[in-house]
Amino acid sequence: MMVSGDLMSKKNQIRRQVSWVIILIFLIISTSVGGFLWVKYEIDRKNNNNNQQEIEKEKAREAKRVELIEKSALLVKGYYYQEAIELLKSNPEVYNDKLKNEVKKIEDFVAALQPYTGRIEQVFFHSLIVYPELAFGPKSSEPQGYNYWMTTQLEFERMLPLLMERGYVLVRISDLYEVDAQGNVSAKTLYLPKGKRPLLISVDNVGYPESRKKDGFASRLIIDNNNEISAVIRNLEGKEVISRTAEVFPIVDDFVKVHPEFSYRGAKGMLGITGSWGVMGYDPKIPEEALEAKRIANRMKELGWEFVSHSYTHAGGKYFSENSTLEGIKEDTELFKKWIVPIIGDSNVFIAPFGITLKGELYQYFIDEGYTFYLNVDRRSQPRIIGKSVLMPRINLDGFVMNRDKAYISEHFFDVDKVYDQRRPPFQ
Ligand SMILES: [Zn+2]
Repeated sequence: MMVSGDLMSKKNQIRRQVSWVIILIFLIISTSVGGFLWVKYEIDRKNNNNNQQEIEKEKAREAKRVELIEKSALLVKGYYYQEAIELLKSNPEVYNDKLKNEVKKIEDFVAALQPYTGRIEQVFFHSLIVYPELAFGPKSSEPQGYNYWMTTQLEFERMLPLLMERGYVLVRISDLYEVDAQGNVSAKTLYLPKGKRPLLISVDNVGYPESRKKDGFASRLIIDNNNEISAVIRNLEGKEVISRTAEVFPIVDDFVKVHPEFSYRGAKGMLGITGSWGVMGYDPKIPEEALEAKRIANRMKELGWEFVSHSYTHAGGKYFSENSTLEGIKEDTELFKKWIVPIIGDSNVFIAPFGITLKGELYQYFIDEGYTFYLNVDRRSQPRIIGKSVLMPRINLDGFVMNRDKAYISEHFFDVDKVYDQRRPPFQ
């Protein structure tokens, strides 16, 4: 039995060893599988993290693309085509086929622009009548003159969308003409989208004598708290308030903000400054006021406005009338240079007082003084290059013209019935 007992223990020993081997194999397999699974899990986790990060990054890039496309569309609306293309290409990290496609769309649009060959219209205004009850009221200093030669705030605000509907776009004279170093002037090709046409606007005088202030016009321009140009006006209670609608300038600025397509590359209009009326409500002969006027002029230039000469005296007789003399206009021009140019800067545009067209050596005098563009008043003719100058007609969009030339204005600019302010007194 010993033998059999030995055999038994040997069998047991072998069985135990086999068990150990099995356990060992099991352990080896399970740890390696576990390890493998763990490593795999870790790799996946990392990959997932990387993927997640990559997704987030792409989301951010896509958001940037959307932003670039929106901003470039706004630039295109304002006729800043090259700038829009440059903006789309400005960030190589986000530049992809989508942006490439946007660039292509703009390039195709630019290629389809047509040189503009139609009429060139220039319209002009005076300061706006804000309170017709004062301007046409019993205490007004010149109700008849205002009814003829002025435009009300309401009329001006009604005109802008109608002008835009007709395709008008504000431009600068320098978008239409080129002047070389010798003073030779030539027409410049202006490329506009189909259906668009250029419009020049000018505002005469932009001065606020006491009579105007009490007759329902603005009192002065200011730079407001938002660094915008606003008008100060006495309200009906006689209290001074800041207004965005009491003058042409804030109205146009705000309109262009909403409708960038109404302004070619930021163009607004011209202010025809007259010395003897003060400059935008400031006395050029009082140093602090002259300084303030200059600050306002500089800000307005940034906003797209231009400053031009409307003479110093704005007077008749030897200055600007049938009896103008060379001596008279020389004296006027010297005064303008002395008192007004330091505030508004140089300009090559002269707006003739009373729209008078000087002749011969008197006209030549302005060309020689560097005024290439001579602006008069004429509702039918078109700009004409004369020697080294351009004689540019302008149309007054005021009570007189809306009454006396209604059909023409309705045909060329806007339906007068949709604009005319019924608060005006009967036209006589
Ligand atoms: Zn004038």
